[in-house]
Amino acid sequence: MIDAHLHLHDEAFKDDINEVLLRARKSGVVAFVNTSTNFKDAVACLNFSRIYDSVYPCVGLAPYSDLTEIDSMLQLIEDEPDIVAVGEIGLDWPYEKKPAQIEIFKKQIEIAKELDLPVVVHSRSAGKYCIEILKEMKVEKVLLHSFDGGIKHARVAFDLGYHFSIPVTVIKSPQKQQLAKEIPEKLLLLETDSPVLNPNGGRNEPANLVISRDFIAELKGLEPKTIESITEVNTRKFFKI
Ligand SMILES: [Zn+2]
Repeated sequence: MIDAHLHLHDEAFKDDINEVLLRARKSGVVAFVNTSTNFKDAVACLNFSRIYDSVYPCVGLAPYSDLTEIDSMLQLIEDEPDIVAVGEIGLDWPYEKKPAQIEIFKKQIEIAKELDLPVVVHSRSAGKYCIEILKEMKVEKVLLHSFDGGIKHARVAFDLGYHFSIPVTVIKSPQKQQLAKEIPEKLLLLETDSPVLNPNGGRNEPANLVISRDFIAELKGLEPKTIESITEVNTRKFFKI
Protein backbone atom coordinates (compact mmCIF):
# COMPACT_ATOMS: atom_id res chain seq x y z
CA MET A 1 0.00 0.00 0.00
CA ILE A 2 0.96 3.62 -0.38
CA ASP A 3 -0.09 6.36 2.02
CA ALA A 4 -1.05 9.02 -0.52
CA HIS A 5 -1.23 11.91 1.94
CA LEU A 6 0.46 12.43 5.29
CA HIS A 7 2.91 14.66 7.17
CA LEU A 8 5.87 12.58 8.38
CA HIS A 9 8.15 15.54 9.12
CA ASP A 10 5.57 16.83 11.64
CA GLU A 11 6.69 17.58 15.22
CA ALA A 12 4.43 14.78 16.40
CA PHE A 13 6.85 12.20 14.94
CA LYS A 14 10.14 13.76 15.95
CA ASP A 15 10.88 11.34 18.79
CA ASP A 16 10.00 8.03 17.17
CA ILE A 17 9.92 8.44 13.40
CA ASN A 18 11.99 5.28 12.81
CA GLU A 19 9.55 3.14 14.81
CA VAL A 20 6.60 4.76 13.01
CA LEU A 21 8.12 3.93 9.62
CA LEU A 22 8.99 0.41 10.73
CA ARG A 23 5.43 -0.26 11.92
CA ALA A 24 4.13 1.11 8.61
CA ARG A 25 6.41 -1.13 6.57
CA LYS A 26 5.51 -4.16 8.69
CA SER A 27 1.83 -3.54 8.00
CA GLY A 28 2.50 -3.38 4.25
CA VAL A 29 2.94 0.34 3.55
CA VAL A 30 5.72 0.53 0.96
CA ALA A 31 5.75 4.26 0.13
CA PHE A 32 4.52 7.63 1.36
CA VAL A 33 3.52 10.90 -0.30
CA ASN A 34 4.71 13.36 2.31
CA THR A 35 2.87 16.65 2.14
CA SER A 36 3.53 20.22 3.26
CA THR A 37 1.34 23.18 4.11
CA ASN A 38 3.61 26.28 4.33
CA PHE A 39 7.10 27.39 3.29
CA LYS A 40 9.06 26.26 6.35
CA ASP A 41 7.14 23.02 6.33
CA ALA A 42 7.93 22.53 2.63
CA VAL A 43 11.66 22.83 3.28
CA ALA A 44 11.36 20.27 6.11
CA CYS A 45 9.32 18.02 3.83
CA LEU A 46 11.96 18.15 1.07
CA ASN A 47 14.78 17.46 3.54
CA PHE A 48 12.87 14.51 4.96
CA SER A 49 12.63 12.91 1.52
CA ARG A 50 16.38 13.18 1.08
CA ILE A 51 16.93 11.17 4.26
CA TYR A 52 14.26 8.46 4.03
CA ASP A 53 13.59 5.99 1.22
CA SER A 54 10.30 5.84 -0.63
CA VAL A 55 9.08 9.14 0.81
CA TYR A 56 7.98 11.47 -1.99
CA PRO A 57 7.54 15.22 -1.41
CA CYS A 58 4.32 17.04 -2.27
CA VAL A 59 4.78 20.79 -1.80
CA GLY A 60 2.32 23.67 -1.67
CA LEU A 61 0.77 26.47 0.33
CA ALA A 62 -2.41 25.39 2.11
CA PRO A 63 -5.32 27.86 2.27
CA TYR A 64 -5.10 28.03 6.08
CA SER A 65 -1.41 29.04 6.02
CA ASP A 66 0.21 32.48 5.77
CA LEU A 67 -0.79 33.38 2.23
CA THR A 68 1.92 36.05 1.92
CA GLU A 69 4.39 33.19 1.42
CA ILE A 70 3.05 32.52 -2.06
CA ASP A 71 5.96 33.97 -4.05
CA SER A 72 8.63 32.03 -2.18
CA MET A 73 6.49 28.91 -2.43
CA LEU A 74 6.10 29.25 -6.21
CA GLN A 75 9.86 29.71 -6.52
CA LEU A 76 10.54 26.62 -4.41
CA ILE A 77 8.15 24.51 -6.49
CA GLU A 78 9.88 25.67 -9.65
CA ASP A 79 13.37 24.99 -8.28
CA GLU A 80 12.89 21.50 -6.84
CA PRO A 81 12.80 18.74 -9.45
CA ASP A 82 12.01 16.00 -6.88
CA ILE A 83 8.52 17.31 -6.08
CA VAL A 84 5.86 14.78 -7.19
CA ALA A 85 2.80 17.05 -6.81
CA VAL A 86 1.70 20.55 -5.84
CA GLY A 87 -0.24 20.39 -2.57
CA GLU A 88 -1.89 20.63 -0.32
CA ILE A 89 -3.59 23.58 -1.96
CA GLY A 90 -7.25 24.52 -2.08
CA LEU A 91 -9.99 26.33 -0.21
CA ASP A 92 -10.88 26.25 3.45
CA TRP A 93 -14.03 28.30 3.98
CA PRO A 94 -14.02 28.39 7.79
CA TYR A 95 -10.81 30.45 7.43
CA GLU A 96 -11.08 34.06 6.34
CA LYS A 97 -9.75 35.79 3.23
CA LYS A 98 -11.81 33.87 0.69
CA PRO A 99 -10.76 36.00 -2.32
CA ALA A 100 -7.07 35.62 -1.38
CA GLN A 101 -7.49 31.86 -0.96
CA ILE A 102 -8.97 31.62 -4.45
CA GLU A 103 -6.16 33.69 -5.95
CA ILE A 104 -3.44 31.60 -4.26
CA PHE A 105 -5.16 28.35 -5.23
CA LYS A 106 -5.25 29.45 -8.87
CA LYS A 107 -1.60 30.55 -8.89
CA GLN A 108 -0.52 27.13 -7.66
CA ILE A 109 -2.75 25.36 -10.17
CA GLU A 110 -1.05 27.40 -12.90
CA ILE A 111 2.42 26.38 -11.85
CA ALA A 112 1.40 22.72 -11.53
CA LYS A 113 0.09 22.84 -15.09
CA GLU A 114 3.26 24.51 -16.31
CA LEU A 115 5.43 21.85 -14.68
CA ASP A 116 3.02 19.04 -15.61
CA LEU A 117 2.56 18.04 -11.97
CA PRO A 118 -0.64 16.75 -10.34
CA VAL A 119 -2.41 18.82 -7.69
CA VAL A 120 -3.44 17.60 -4.24
CA VAL A 121 -6.46 19.52 -3.02
CA HIS A 122 -7.55 20.32 0.51
CA SER A 123 -11.15 21.51 0.62
CA ARG A 124 -13.08 22.23 3.76
CA SER A 125 -16.72 23.14 3.36
CA ALA A 126 -15.68 24.22 -0.16
CA GLY A 127 -15.76 21.05 -2.26
CA LYS A 128 -18.15 22.45 -4.83
CA TYR A 129 -16.06 25.62 -5.33
CA CYS A 130 -12.77 23.71 -5.58
CA ILE A 131 -14.19 21.43 -8.25
CA GLU A 132 -15.64 24.42 -10.15
CA ILE A 133 -12.24 26.16 -10.24
CA LEU A 134 -10.37 23.00 -11.23
CA LYS A 135 -12.88 22.35 -13.99
CA GLU A 136 -12.79 25.91 -15.24
CA MET A 137 -8.98 25.81 -15.34
CA LYS A 138 -9.08 22.47 -17.16
CA VAL A 139 -6.89 20.67 -14.64
CA GLU A 140 -6.64 16.97 -15.39
CA LYS A 141 -4.52 15.43 -12.65
CA VAL A 142 -6.38 16.08 -9.41
CA LEU A 143 -6.39 14.31 -6.06
CA LEU A 144 -9.10 15.45 -3.65
CA HIS A 145 -7.74 14.49 -0.26
CA SER A 146 -10.06 13.68 2.63
CA PHE A 147 -12.95 15.22 0.70
CA ASP A 148 -15.75 16.48 2.96
CA GLY A 149 -18.19 17.57 0.25
CA GLY A 150 -21.50 16.07 -0.71
CA ILE A 151 -21.79 13.03 -2.96
CA LYS A 152 -23.37 15.04 -5.77
CA HIS A 153 -20.22 17.16 -6.02
CA ALA A 154 -18.05 14.04 -5.79
CA ARG A 155 -19.99 12.56 -8.72
CA VAL A 156 -19.10 15.62 -10.83
CA ALA A 157 -15.45 15.01 -9.92
CA PHE A 158 -15.72 11.29 -10.83
CA ASP A 159 -16.90 12.34 -14.29
CA LEU A 160 -13.89 14.64 -14.61
CA GLY A 161 -11.57 11.73 -13.70
CA TYR A 162 -10.45 13.28 -10.41
CA HIS A 163 -8.97 10.93 -7.82
CA PHE A 164 -9.90 10.74 -4.13
CA SER A 165 -7.77 9.56 -1.21
CA ILE A 166 -9.99 8.20 1.54
CA PRO A 167 -8.78 8.62 5.13
CA VAL A 168 -9.08 6.15 8.01
CA THR A 169 -11.98 8.20 9.42
CA VAL A 170 -14.09 6.39 6.82
CA ILE A 171 -14.84 3.87 9.58
CA LYS A 172 -16.85 6.53 11.42
CA SER A 173 -18.05 8.95 8.73
CA PRO A 174 -21.22 8.14 6.75
CA GLN A 175 -20.22 10.82 4.19
CA LYS A 176 -16.89 9.10 3.51
CA GLN A 177 -18.54 5.68 3.47
CA GLN A 178 -20.85 6.79 0.68
CA LEU A 179 -17.88 8.26 -1.18
CA ALA A 180 -15.90 5.02 -0.80
CA LYS A 181 -18.85 2.96 -1.94
CA GLU A 182 -19.52 4.99 -5.09
CA ILE A 183 -16.02 5.91 -6.19
CA PRO A 184 -14.89 4.08 -9.35
CA GLU A 185 -12.01 1.72 -8.48
CA LYS A 186 -9.60 3.45 -10.84
CA LEU A 187 -9.93 6.74 -8.90
CA LEU A 188 -9.45 5.31 -5.40
CA LEU A 189 -6.38 6.03 -3.25
CA LEU A 190 -5.77 5.57 0.49
CA GLU A 191 -4.37 8.10 2.97
CA THR A 192 -4.00 8.59 6.70
CA ASP A 193 -3.22 12.36 6.87
CA SER A 194 -1.02 11.42 9.85
CA PRO A 195 -0.50 12.75 12.43
CA VAL A 196 -4.12 13.94 12.27
CA LEU A 197 -7.43 12.23 11.47
CA ASN A 198 -7.10 9.25 13.77
CA PRO A 199 -10.71 8.03 14.02
CA ASN A 200 -10.07 6.85 17.56
CA GLY A 201 -8.45 10.10 18.72
CA GLY A 202 -4.77 10.76 19.43
CA ARG A 203 -1.92 10.63 16.94
CA ASN A 204 -2.52 8.91 13.64
CA GLU A 205 0.20 6.92 11.84
CA PRO A 206 0.63 5.31 8.44
CA ALA A 207 0.39 1.73 9.80
CA ASN A 208 -3.33 2.51 10.28
CA LEU A 209 -3.85 2.32 6.52
CA VAL A 210 -4.80 -1.35 7.06
CA ILE A 211 -7.92 -0.19 8.92
CA SER A 212 -9.33 1.67 5.93
CA ARG A 213 -8.11 -0.99 3.50
CA ASP A 214 -10.16 -3.64 5.33
CA PHE A 215 -13.16 -1.39 5.84
CA ILE A 216 -13.33 -0.24 2.20
CA ALA A 217 -12.83 -3.82 0.99
CA GLU A 218 -15.90 -4.83 2.97
CA LEU A 219 -17.90 -1.83 1.68
CA LYS A 220 -17.06 -2.61 -1.93
CA GLY A 221 -17.36 -6.39 -1.56
CA LEU A 222 -13.70 -6.94 -2.49
CA GLU A 223 -10.75 -8.70 -0.89
CA PRO A 224 -8.37 -6.49 1.15
CA LYS A 225 -5.58 -7.69 -1.18
CA THR A 226 -7.50 -6.33 -4.15
CA ILE A 227 -7.89 -2.91 -2.51
CA GLU A 228 -4.15 -2.99 -1.81
CA SER A 229 -3.17 -3.66 -5.38
CA ILE A 230 -5.75 -1.33 -6.96
CA THR A 231 -4.78 1.61 -4.76
CA GLU A 232 -1.06 1.00 -5.13
CA VAL A 233 -1.31 0.94 -8.93
CA ASN A 234 -3.53 4.07 -8.91
CA THR A 235 -1.16 5.95 -6.59
CA ARG A 236 1.97 5.07 -8.56
CA LYS A 237 0.32 6.09 -11.80
CA PHE A 238 -1.07 9.32 -10.39
CA PHE A 239 2.19 10.58 -8.84
CA LYS A 240 4.49 8.81 -11.35
CA ILE A 241 6.37 7.12 -8.50
ZN1 LIG B 1 -2.87 16.84 5.27
